[in-house]
Amino acid sequence: MSTQDAKVPVEGATQTLPDRTQNPAEDKAAPEGEMSKNAAKKAAKLAKQAADKEERAEKDVNKGLKAEAKKASSKTPKKKMEGAALIGIDVAKEDDFAGWYQQVLTKGDMLDYYDVSGCFILKPASYFIWETIQSWFNDKIKKMGVRNCSFPLFVSEDVLQKEKDHIEGFAPEVAWVTHAGSTPLERKIAIRPTSETVMYPYYAKWIRSHRDLPLRLNQWNSVVRWEFKHPQPFLRTREFLWQEGHTAHLTEESAAEEVLQILDHYAHVYEDLLAVPVVKGRKTEKEKFAGGYYTTTVEGYIPATGRGIQGGTSHCLGQNFSKMFGITVEDPSSKEGERKPPLYVWQNSWGLSTRTIGVMVMIHSDNRGLVLPPRVAEIQTIIVPVGITAKTTDEERTKLYSEIDDLVALLTAAGVRAESDKREGYSPGWKFNDWELKGVPVRLEFGPGESAGQYVTAARRDIPGKDGKTTIPISELSTAIPKLLDTIHNDLFRRADEEFRAHRKIITNWDDFVPALNAKNVCLIPHCLTEECEDQIKEMSARKAEEDSGEPQDARAPSMGAKSLCIPFDQPEGIIPGVTKCTNPHCTKLAEKWCMFGHIETTLGKEEQMNGMNGDDELPYIFCVQSHREFGSSTSASTSIPVVFGSLVPFYSKY
Ligand SMILES: [Zn+2]
Repeated sequence: MSTQDAKVPVEGATQTLPDRTQNPAEDKAAPEGEMSKNAAKKAAKLAKQAADKEERAEKDVNKGLKAEAKKASSKTPKKKMEGAALIGIDVAKEDDFAGWYQQVLTKGDMLDYYDVSGCFILKPASYFIWETIQSWFNDKIKKMGVRNCSFPLFVSEDVLQKEKDHIEGFAPEVAWVTHAGSTPLERKIAIRPTSETVMYPYYAKWIRSHRDLPLRLNQWNSVVRWEFKHPQPFLRTREFLWQEGHTAHLTEESAAEEVLQILDHYAHVYEDLLAVPVVKGRKTEKEKFAGGYYTTTVEGYIPATGRGIQGGTSHCLGQNFSKMFGITVEDPSSKEGERKPPLYVWQNSWGLSTRTIGVMVMIHSDNRGLVLPPRVAEIQTIIVPVGITAKTTDEERTKLYSEIDDLVALLTAAGVRAESDKREGYSPGWKFNDWELKGVPVRLEFGPGESAGQYVTAARRDIPGKDGKTTIPISELSTAIPKLLDTIHNDLFRRADEEFRAHRKIITNWDDFVPALNAKNVCLIPHCLTEECEDQIKEMSARKAEEDSGEPQDARAPSMGAKSLCIPFDQPEGIIPGVTKCTNPHCTKLAEKWCMFGHIETTLGKEEQMNGMNGDDELPYIFCVQSHREFGSSTSASTSIPVVFGSLVPFYSKY
């Protein structure tokens, strides 16, 4: 980024930023002459009391929020961006990624912090994105015969523990309800971390015949996974929104076909809605879903940190769960009178969460704030009146505003989500900054000059400054803007795709592996695909990174080992079966596939390491104890649902 960009100059902004607290409307609100002196005094006193109360309440909430927000930003001294506008982002993406991410989300009006750690409020702008994903995905899965439904939030301990591997994967993060008011429950009840065990007893009951198959159900809900690690909005939160699909099939083929169909839909959500490139592949045995048969995944890449991120997973569960829950049908190949053993159904589960939104923000947004891909932007085009001065007559202003209303109507009729910003008391420059913070893809400026020439001045959010500006005749607006929005989508995708491709390195020599990771790449290496070897690679790459860092011992943050992201479906050439060795020098096995390794993005950089935490490793116990006290006391005091915590195993990779 050039220093020019950092100054947040706004094209065409000639006025200074007004004080936002000055509200002309307030002057008119004071009551005059209609109240007695006493009544007025009393009213003033009541108003003061109310204001004080509100302030106190706000302070209480803010205490929690500030602590949370503080944690979110790096503890290294913030580098304030030179000349950053008062309302803008004041830390640069490249200097303090965590702080930047937090500001982009809160100042962009996407999200707010909450007084229960790890929980966040999704404001309308981000919820709109989720609704867009919902609507697109619903359409696709309904065409496949999937039906939506709703199962309860609670699950009994017996049922939850029915599948051993599965619950082992989840146990540490299950939140339990143990009391109703002050009365202990006879049996504690879990809050679902996912719904396999909630739903499958009913699959056993409902699936009576092979004619009931495939059974395909989906629910849009939230689940709770009580993470101990540092929360990150959208990426790692204790409660998150997602969809979870659960299907049952007669044959493995039928299940396998669906796994890939869903994975394609996930890839399309990322690529066609969010302009985010992903790599499709299969998880290794080590990284697959707990209790499942195999897991497929879409993997993304965050250029700012050089880390990989799991985008969504589609699992084939095989017959493991159907055996545990007794989900069987009679064999359709049985002849009359013949008694063949019943068949266990083949099952899938698949989930996509609001993490999608976080990935999108991290990839596209910049130091001016959010950059929203047009297809998920609640407002795609904002029209801002310009050129109104003290000399402008009421008549001229009314005429300009009426023309702007016509432009909004024209665009709306063309299928564009368009609005105008006629807020009084703010300069055009202030409004430009405000809409840039909120990521609106296209800004149209319309003033007396444009009116006279019958054109609009258009500015692209994704290309700040003069390069992103153009003029469009009003007669062409209804076709030009939809086209421009598509161009913006394609450009956002292309830029992100080029970056991801440039940072997917093909490595065949171990000595190049860690340096490549440290240079913000993910690496494809010939690998034996064994769990044991993957553990070794993780450990060795962590140790190697430490040796390479050259920093004094105590100043050095614990370094993070590499994890396998996926075995990409799209395999490079070069592995000769029976000849090519696994890249791990301590592994004697042959390479099976090219496997993509990388650091995992859930930590946003260094601040977790500063707490003594590795990016993707188990937490040190001491931190857990602190968290327990902190979280435990605040939740039980405020909600009367005491929450029991388990031990320490990372889980985020499972969804
Ligand atoms: Zn190996």
